[in-house]
Amino acid sequence: VIDVKNLRKSFGGNEVLKGINCQVHAGEVISIIGPSGAGKSTFLRCLNGLDTPSSGSIVVLGDDIADPKTNIDKTREHIGMVFQHFNLFPNMTVAENITLAPTLIKKVPADKARARALELLRMVGLEEKADANPESLSGGQKQRVAIARSLAMDPQIMLFDEATSALDPEMVGDVLQVIRDLADKGMTMLLVTHEMAFAREVSTRVIFTDAGVIEEEGTPEQVFGNPQSPRLRSFLSKVL
Ligand code: ATP
Ligand code: MG
Repeated sequence: VIDVKNLRKSFGGNEVLKGINCQVHAGEVISIIGPSGAGKSTFLRCLNGLDTPSSGSIVVLGDDIADPKTNIDKTREHIGMVFQHFNLFPNMTVAENITLAPTLIKKVPADKARARALELLRMVGLEEKADANPESLSGGQKQRVAIARSLAMDPQIMLFDEATSALDPEMVGDVLQVIRDLADKGMTMLLVTHEMAFAREVSTRVIFTDAGVIEEEGTPEQVFGNPQSPRLRSFLSKVL
């Protein structure tokens, strides 16, 4: 569902992605790990068009979104993205946050959108918060609403960029459980994460990036259990 070829991205003279090649198949759960500044966020942002590649191709669900002629908005409807900071709309209820995009973009009738929002809230364990103000929620609850909001567009691919990094430790587990449930349902996902134990448990494949390249990739057993590259070994010795 994703085929990235020789992706390069520079900011000014700073080349942040130096030729990334990566294929993602439906149902894969890929964790992207690596040191700060490696280009992990930039890579995810290129996958849904938030950053424009300097060169290379990014074919997502059949369309090359690196090609300026492609209608990126159409592709983006099929890709959900969840960030470290949840960015819920503060002047709307939880349910309204979730129904906004489906009603506006997909023209889903209000009652259907509401029913789907309640279903998604039940899935993330927050059905009773439907009419609450987002400001009244804890960080972990906000993040689960943000995930429900992304899922409301029925994406085929979900991208998570450090979805638990801004949360208090006791909130992390609930959010990881929602991601785990999505993995069990076969959702195609790319996760940038610092939760190594979680990456090891949930991923079908782990990609280690450093300095703008994919330095090593493999099954969780290979990457965590038998790392080859000295840079990966050094990284793991610091984070495990
Ligand atoms: P972290 O683990 O800290 O989130 P990361 O692997 O996600 O790091 P990126 O955020 O992709 O790293 O950043 C990679 C490099 O690109 C950094 O040197 C950063 O300063 C630079 N960079 C990212 N976004 C921009 C931007 N909009 N303008 C200029 N430079 C940028
Ligand atoms: Mg980042």
